[in-house]
Amino acid sequence: MFGGEEEMSECNNRVVISGYYLTNSEVRFIIKNSINLKSLFRLFVKWKVLNKTFTHYFSREFATRAGRFNSCEGCGSTNNLTVHHIKPVKSVFSEQKIFDLTNFSILCRKCHIEKEKHLIKNKKVKK
Ligand SMILES: [Zn+2]
Repeated sequence: MFGGEEEMSECNNRVVISGYYLTNSEVRFIIKNSINLKSLFRLFVKWKVLNKTFTHYFSREFATRAGRFNSCEGCGSTNNLTVHHIKPVKSVFSEQKIFDLTNFSILCRKCHIEKEKHLIKNKKVKK
């Protein structure tokens, strides 16, 4: 994969390597096929190309490799699975949160939306 020689930057939310734009699905492909996820992650941090979507690709791949990305913990569905971060990732892309299986809840898209709604509701109640 990357030897670190490529020039990488971000332009309009697109990753650019040596002058070539990469789409989100191409970045996802790179993450999926990376031998060392953490060192690729560190390169993304170094090159300042990390965004929220990419952090989810990293977490998803990490969970898949650990055998955790199989079914929804809410309803048992095996379709449209996502990683819900218990401690939210927000704009601070900490390696601990993104590569921590105990910070993951594997949810299908439907359960994830329900969970987010519930969390927002709880936040409002607290205020
Ligand atoms: Zn579900």
